[in-house]
Amino acid sequence: MARRITMAWWATGLLGLLVAACALGQLGYQDTPMLPGGQWHVHDGTRPQPPVIDAGLPSTNDQVGKAPSDAVVLFDGSNLDRWRNDKGATPAWKIEDGVLVCAKGGGQITTRDTFGDCQVHLEWAAPTPPSGSGQGRGNSGLFFCGRYEIQILDCYQSQTYPDGQTAALYGQFPPLVNACRPPGQWQSYDVIWTAPKFANNQLVAPAAVTMLHNGVLVHNHTALLGGTSHRGLAKYHPHDPVGPLALQDHGNPVRFRNIWVRPIKAYDQP
Ligand code: MG
Repeated sequence: MARRITMAWWATGLLGLLVAACALGQLGYQDTPMLPGGQWHVHDGTRPQPPVIDAGLPSTNDQVGKAPSDAVVLFDGSNLDRWRNDKGATPAWKIEDGVLVCAKGGGQITTRDTFGDCQVHLEWAAPTPPSGSGQGRGNSGLFFCGRYEIQILDCYQSQTYPDGQTAALYGQFPPLVNACRPPGQWQSYDVIWTAPKFANNQLVAPAAVTMLHNGVLVHNHTALLGGTSHRGLAKYHPHDPVGPLALQDHGNPVRFRNIWVRPIKAYDQP
């Protein structure tokens, strides 16, 4: 009886080893149809694996989160090394207790690096107690390619023209909802930016924005009409495929923390 049990144990173990060996050698299939592009089969086990990253941690109002491990951290509370002013020098904006504060008259600040298609995370808080109204209440802005503004504004129990309110694609598209938190509380923008494409000085594909404000969808692959304009119709002017990010100085001490960007690229394409 004991010998029979031992043999059964060995047989089960051997079967397990065989299954494991098969799984290691063959993750998927090679006898399936080719996907468009002719590079990979459906369920192709030889297709490269996506890179493994540390996804980081979300922020709370009192605690700053952690950027994903493959992000370019633009501001972590310590310095403005990745930013410049319009003259190329270190910006005059202040860092107070790990928080970046827009200095009135300091001018917009611009990243030293340039980015094309990318994911941007940014946290901001409107001045408290609030002052001003409409466009004069906690105004700043996040610019892509230095020319396409996503509005930053305190629209908590405060109204302005809808295509200029918080999270609007300024002068073009209001957000789907007003997801503002009260001034003083931290708010997040998570933006998926698709840069416009130009060829022979002509627009080939418009810029597109997908965006969450405080985790709530406010733009779903919305195609921009052109570069941001005040009291004018947006128009495209051809530019490089990459450009800097910028934060606007609109004269209000808007605060920022935890700013990072992840360029978007397919890991298994040339
Ligand atoms: Mg603005």
